[in-house]
Amino acid sequence: MQIEPVLLPDFIRAINETIDKNADEVTALDQEIGDGDHVFNLKRGLHALGEQSTELASLDWASALQKIGMILMSTIGGASGSLYGTLFVTMSKTAKGKPMALKTFADAFSQGVESVKSRGRAAAGEKTMLDVLIPVAERLQASAEADVALSGLLESLAQTAVQGMESTRDMVATKGRASFLGERTKGHIDAGARTAQLMICSVIDVLSRRSASPS
Ligand code: ADP
Ligand code: MG
Repeated sequence: MQIEPVLLPDFIRAINETIDKNADEVTALDQEIGDGDHVFNLKRGLHALGEQSTELASLDWASALQKIGMILMSTIGGASGSLYGTLFVTMSKTAKGKPMALKTFADAFSQGVESVKSRGRAAAGEKTMLDVLIPVAERLQASAEADVALSGLLESLAQTAVQGMESTRDMVATKGRASFLGERTKGHIDAGARTAQLMICSVIDVLSRRSASPS
């Protein structure tokens, strides 16, 4: 299955629907240990992507990823705005001039996640979106190198994302607003980890449906 930017409108629609459906739950998570605005911030960015999705579909991967990054950076705001902006802009730089094979995507995503780590001065285990992004990037790299079948890959990526999100429950936040609450953050899932997992899983759903019944 070729994965081309013409799929972006489907991805963006699926992501918007998932975030809308789970908005109240994420806001409740963010109110427990953050300032409660995470979904609102994210929705502003996702809505902007929706408005530009036809144009995004007409671009090559490097240009589409660059544009996505710029849109997210200028619309989301909060800590997550610059982090998601950096993720996609770096992915664009890594993917530039290369055909979008699985290995190229895995490299681009890994580099993107590295840039989120440096922008946020954060690592795994600090109770952030990185606790989803890092294991997903690692799993993607390992699978790209092992050349596994797409359906198995999608399933294992979804599982990895859910495990990463769940793992934030027992962590103590050391980055972002939640870090002000220290030990009191234990027992709560990080809102940014939850939305990262929801977005990754909705893209995986679109790809799984398409690979089951290619049109
Ligand atoms: P803000 O904290 O500025 O209100 P948001 O509410 O939009 O921003 O996003 C909060 C989320 O951003 C957190 O739940 C966490 O997952 C993520 N986050 C915050 N700080 C960092 C960081 N330094 N590195 C990585 N992710 C971070
Ligand atoms: Mg917030």
